[in-house]
Amino acid sequence: MAQDTAPAELGFDPDALREKYRQERDKRLRADGNAQYLEITGEYAHYIEDPYVQPDVREPVTTEVEVAVVGGGHGGLQIGARLRMAGVQSIRLIEKGGDFGGTWYWNRYPGAACDTEAYIYMPLLEETGYVPTEKYAKAPEIRAHCQRIAQHFDLYRDVLFQTQITEVRWQEDAQKWLVTTDRGDRFLARFIAMANGPLNRPKLPGVPGIESFKGHSFHTSRWDYDYTGGDSYGNLTGLADKRVAIIGTGATAIQAIPHLGASAKALFVFQRTPSSVDVRANRATDPEWAKSLQPGWQRHRMENFSTVLVGGQVEEDLVSDGWTEIITKLLRGRVSGNATDGFGGGGAPDALELGKVMEMADFEKMNQIRARADATVHDKMTAEALKPYYRQFCKRPCFHDEYLPTFNRPNVTLVNTDGKGIDRITEKGVVANGQEYEVDCIIYASGFEVGTPLERRAGYEVYGKGGLTLSDKWKDGVATLHGMQTRGFPNCFIVGLAQVGGSANITHVLDVQSRHIAYVIESALERGAETVDVVQEAEDAWVDTIIRASMANITFLENCTPGYYNNEGQPNGELIRQNGAYAPGIMAFSKLLDAWKAEGSLSGLEFAGG
Ligand code: NDP
Repeated sequence: MAQDTAPAELGFDPDALREKYRQERDKRLRADGNAQYLEITGEYAHYIEDPYVQPDVREPVTTEVEVAVVGGGHGGLQIGARLRMAGVQSIRLIEKGGDFGGTWYWNRYPGAACDTEAYIYMPLLEETGYVPTEKYAKAPEIRAHCQRIAQHFDLYRDVLFQTQITEVRWQEDAQKWLVTTDRGDRFLARFIAMANGPLNRPKLPGVPGIESFKGHSFHTSRWDYDYTGGDSYGNLTGLADKRVAIIGTGATAIQAIPHLGASAKALFVFQRTPSSVDVRANRATDPEWAKSLQPGWQRHRMENFSTVLVGGQVEEDLVSDGWTEIITKLLRGRVSGNATDGFGGGGAPDALELGKVMEMADFEKMNQIRARADATVHDKMTAEALKPYYRQFCKRPCFHDEYLPTFNRPNVTLVNTDGKGIDRITEKGVVANGQEYEVDCIIYASGFEVGTPLERRAGYEVYGKGGLTLSDKWKDGVATLHGMQTRGFPNCFIVGLAQVGGSANITHVLDVQSRHIAYVIESALERGAETVDVVQEAEDAWVDTIIRASMANITFLENCTPGYYNNEGQPNGELIRQNGAYAPGIMAFSKLLDAWKAEGSLSGLEFAGG
């Protein structure tokens, strides 16, 4: 068995690596977990103002609609599109930003691009007749595609932009939802579908002095091109005479740093934990390939990708990229069990054996990532500091071919804080390792809130039957049927990552959810039912299914370096199982919903009224 193989044969010493990972994690563990970050409110509120649009003026809206859809990102757009396909005309989307796009509306930083192949990540390509220009499309192309979807499905006529919901409350007498917003809107909706997005609220590092900085500063999700010059493709001419600090080295920073390095007079990269940065290998779309695509190609490709990601067998790995390579390396050919359906389906291999072989494969993979730093970065100390010492899926894997070479530029300095993070911000710049770095501009690439309360991230509370809030209902754990409906909140659909099948391709997850939600709404409308709620036993059974199927490996998460994948180093015991995904993955989940539909009785739902 792999674990028994001697270090000499393996080419590395597993025990030494385990010890190194433990030391690196211990440096970063901190008692305050999520509370370390600064909530962007009050004097910091300007960090979340919309720099991309002028405030509009409009009258409050009071007319009733059939379906209110919260969010104009990939989730809201797909729900809107599926509802239109189902013939629902009375829709109203409510979106904080000034246009459609969601995360792609906000994240316009230089270098922004999708990390999942565009042919499966950009939704509804066949429906809108579009083929992305590159394997990994850049942000402007993705945002334009969001607008294309909205135009194609005629959603612009039904959207309230620059509008934040303040409350959603069930009305017993009307048997409808009352939606109120910060623009004075107050309207009833029979159904509500909430696609707020899992990472929509930016956060700042919780260090003293942020407000004292006299230079310019902004968060990556509110990029100030008036200051930097250039655009999402780079060419940041405004920085030619500027000393710039960027704080954070997560997936966002990895993409922005090459452009900052190319344009700024001086760039200081403040790193707490290095990311794993694998090969990107982007390429233009071959027009002949695009012409050869047959109807149904996008769904087929999406399903092929998600199948590979759970270790399932496919004739050909169609996407064949960094994601599938990692999983293939971690699983395929190393498991003695029958993994035809993936390790979440039938024929699961022995868990202990799987755990051992995956750990060995993980060491190999991460050694390869670390070797990339040595091979690319000339300065030995910098190369060493850029090496991640944790298991591959402790943090979001990144893929980039220009990130590591950026550290060979004479104007770029890596400030490695060795797990401690920056000390503080002063009037003049950033203090790290006790040393002050004077800069003209600080860019916070410090990420988004994940583990904070739902109502804080959404910006509003949902009051169900009898005034029960969704936060209260879920305070001891998420409880749903199929991850999208929860008892006591009739006609309400929640689009999230809890209790649904997962995939590294979030678009696939949203595709399955949006089709399901449109189907249930359509079914209620066809029956003339006023309400559709969840049967208690069905909800209990689904929660039980989630917990039993969970493969959340608490030991794995505890051994990980802190980050949002493990609740900043504090994995929440059993709750991590209940609040997690449906472990067998999106393909198994999708099949389960298809079988539920085919059975015909819509079991677990109760329709009433009408
Ligand atoms: P992350 O949360 O991944 O990164 C935040 C960074 O800030 C980390 O490097 C973190 O360090 C660092 N940080 C936080 N506090 C401090 C501090 N006090 N001192 C120094 N550094 C600090 O946010 P991102 O915006 O990079 O990415 C969020 C998610 O968005 C990704 O995981 C991904 O899911 C998605 N994304 C997807 C992209 C794509 O598809 N192309 C591109 C960009 C983002 P530490 O690691 O130590 O916590």
